[in-house]
Amino acid sequence: MSSFYHSCRYLLIPLLITAILLGLIEHFQEFWLNWQKTIQYMPYWLLGCATIISLQFNRSRLSYIGVLLLIFYVFSQNSTFNPKQNELILIAGGLIITVFSFIKDRGLISVHSLLRVGIILTCFLTAYLWILMLSSYSQQMLTLHQTYLPFLSASNFSRLPLYFIGTILFIKLCWNSNLLHTSLGITFLLWLIHFSFPNWLPLSVLLNMIAFFFLATVLIDSYFLAYRDELTGLPSRRALFNLSLSLGRKYSVAMVDIDHFKKFNDTYGHDVGDQVLKLVAAKLAQVTGGGKAFRYGGEEFTIVFPSKEIQRVLSDLDQVRVNIEKYNIVLREEKRKGKQDKNATKKRNKKISEKQPTVNVTVSIGCAQHQVDQNFEQCMKEADKALYKAKDSGRNQVCT
Ligand code: GH3
Ligand code: MG
Ligand code: MG
Repeated sequence: MSSFYHSCRYLLIPLLITAILLGLIEHFQEFWLNWQKTIQYMPYWLLGCATIISLQFNRSRLSYIGVLLLIFYVFSQNSTFNPKQNELILIAGGLIITVFSFIKDRGLISVHSLLRVGIILTCFLTAYLWILMLSSYSQQMLTLHQTYLPFLSASNFSRLPLYFIGTILFIKLCWNSNLLHTSLGITFLLWLIHFSFPNWLPLSVLLNMIAFFFLATVLIDSYFLAYRDELTGLPSRRALFNLSLSLGRKYSVAMVDIDHFKKFNDTYGHDVGDQVLKLVAAKLAQVTGGGKAFRYGGEEFTIVFPSKEIQRVLSDLDQVRVNIEKYNIVLREEKRKGKQDKNATKKRNKKISEKQPTVNVTVSIGCAQHQVDQNFEQCMKEADKALYKAKDSGRNQVCT
């Protein structure tokens, strides 16, 4: 999967959805007013559901934030906060969201709970100390503000720590975008918008939006877990059999198997083997002719060509085979031999960069076209027979 495609899926599209939702809120202000009571009541249910479902799917960071938001919502319904308390909650909230994007999901109540509670308390304490410093040293802070950052308004100056951690969070998002990080980033953004424009984005609407993003994250993530192969990023065998249900009468199936892969693993190690599997998968994903590649299992892949006769796909398959054969896979020493002492690695890296060792792998491919009286499994079996033929005839070829 190209990194641009990855960023689109995990970062740009969710951000676009957020922008659209904010636009809809702005545009239909009057309409929302008629539903005010329902909207105010919804966070209890939506956030409650999001918290429980996140926990079920081992997304405990979302559960922690869900619980904190629910507590905040209950408090805010029964009392009003003064501006300083509001700033404290804003900064502490932003800190918690950022720190949570750097830790792992380890259940809501486990041996790690104490650490998480400690993190939450530390975030509140940090925010409290910052606000205390702003008021206790107001004169010095004012001088600092006017000398170094005169272009910032007073309220923006007091939110400097928030902007600083927001930048860190954003860099992390771009660096390592996945749905969970994106949903934490969006939560941070909406949190800031709410405290800056509370009339435009009231707390109840904010919490409903956050709950929506949490639920969407958990559900979409679970879909990927079920239907995507984790190592290669290709659709999994389950996705293949799902697709088979929607195929018409005319289609072709190819079974692809890496040649002598056991020997490759034995020579270079399992980690390099994994890297090669990823590279082969990436090449297979680029197959032309409308083919769709799946990881069938181990070092075997399946390519399905919906609505295509076998004669029309053979050249596409052979092109993929040639692409894989010609691909020079660069071997990095540390991947081959595992972790060793750092100095030795540095010396080796110098040598490698002078002449990078490369290897090549080949694949054998068997292809079959669906016949009228066959089901999908039978057609795959025919492709498998053709694959054995390719292996027996010397490998690195396409057979029918
Ligand atoms: P052939 O040319 O006949 O296909 O020989 P082969 O060695 O590729 O076939 P065989 O089925 O005997 O071996 C497949 C090997 O693939 C065994 C296993 O070590 C390796 N393998 C399967 N799944 C993975 C994986 O996820 N990662 C790595 N690194 N190796 C894997
Ligand atoms: Mg095999
Ligand atoms: Mg093999």
